[in-house]
Amino acid sequence: MGFSKLGLSDSILKAVLQKGYDKPSPIQEKSIPVVLEGKDLMAAAQTGTGKTAGFTLPILEILSKGSLAKSNQVRTLVLTPTRELAAQVQDSISTYGKYLPLKSAVVFGGVKINPQMQKLRSGVDILVATPGRLLDLYSQNAVKFDQLEIIVFDEADRMLDMGFIHDIKRILKILPPKRQTLMFSATFSDDIRKLAKSLVNNPIEISTTPRNSTVKSVRQWIHPVDKSKKQALLTHLIKEHDWYQVLVFSRTKHGANRIATQLEKRKISATAIHGNKSQAARTRALADFKAGKVNVLVATDIAARGIDIDQLPHVVNFDLPHVPEDYVHRIGRTGRASSKGEAISLVSADEAKQLFDIERLIQKKLDRVMVDDFVPDHNVPESAKKLLPPKNKKPKKNKNRNKPRYGKDSNSAENKIKKKKGFWGNKPNKKPKK
Ligand code: AMP
Repeated sequence: MGFSKLGLSDSILKAVLQKGYDKPSPIQEKSIPVVLEGKDLMAAAQTGTGKTAGFTLPILEILSKGSLAKSNQVRTLVLTPTRELAAQVQDSISTYGKYLPLKSAVVFGGVKINPQMQKLRSGVDILVATPGRLLDLYSQNAVKFDQLEIIVFDEADRMLDMGFIHDIKRILKILPPKRQTLMFSATFSDDIRKLAKSLVNNPIEISTTPRNSTVKSVRQWIHPVDKSKKQALLTHLIKEHDWYQVLVFSRTKHGANRIATQLEKRKISATAIHGNKSQAARTRALADFKAGKVNVLVATDIAARGIDIDQLPHVVNFDLPHVPEDYVHRIGRTGRASSKGEAISLVSADEAKQLFDIERLIQKKLDRVMVDDFVPDHNVPESAKKLLPPKNKKPKKNKNRNKPRYGKDSNSAENKIKKKKGFWGNKPNKKPKK
């Protein structure tokens, strides 16, 4: 099926075509007609599936037919857990809506509020916001919802994980009850379903992704290595295989800085992003990495959420995350939209528990590959012969409610898309000429 059959107007189709998409992705095929019909939606879709266009395109279509936003009013609100995701959603809205007279804006914390208030003054048709900053703006009368038609919860599972439940409840109280609600989530856990009950009304449920799946187009393995040799092994791997675009994960901000500095010392261009860096520094680092000016981006889990890089070839876990779901999110940065990717974890003996938790979650034992000269003195204990079923995830307590929130996560292209190779009209994964 082509985009032209979905009931979108020519101005939108033109922008989509210019972006180079020839076919809608499965989530887009399913969600666009539902949204256009004005129904509530609960969609299980990870980042990488094309979900953003899945809600943005029909919303633009609907809004282009009504009257424009009056001063301080908002006609569609898109809530995202993180700044990075908010900025990316806003980018998509500008891209797909470039031939429409609609106004959009993005607001998030950590930057000055006054310019955001100014932008809202004349009203915006689509506002993308993180929950905390939206509430701040509301409390200062900078934003009003009398004209609100549609609300989107993007990455609702992440919003819960990051402790936004109270903010969400507060936001719901200030929205008009008559509205169309769209909810996107990588997984539909019991907590999400409970939240959904208070949000959506008789929703259509669509799904394109199995729960906690790791993408099959991502080859995953571990290199057992002593902790003290990890840095040297990382340098060795990058040089030996000539990797030119690698996202390296570090559990801590400090670790991320150290890894980047050490790589630089060994003449590998690297930069770190984490919550202690300013928004401007993070945006610049990401742009340099995307443009190929920097070969290695070292990130913490939170800072990497929402990073959307087409066809990122390599993800390296310098250390394993404590929360096994974060492993799925980390490796979801590669192998997206049916491109091939490799996810490599450097695992030391003390990380056996994290490794076993991950293997239990993804229901798969990760291959162990020894690297000459890096064979560990302390080997990683063997995994259990038979993997137990995944544990039920308990909701996390919100310890960081008043701290700034950074990054997002998300995931990856899902199984069905991958099977249809070339579905997205892939460019080959070529190494850029230097
Ligand atoms: P998302 O899941 O919304 O984060 O989108 C993941 C990536 O897929 C983004 O880089 C989009 O630009 C791209 N994308 C979205 N829809 C399509 C499509 N129909 N064909 C090809 N690429 C797409």
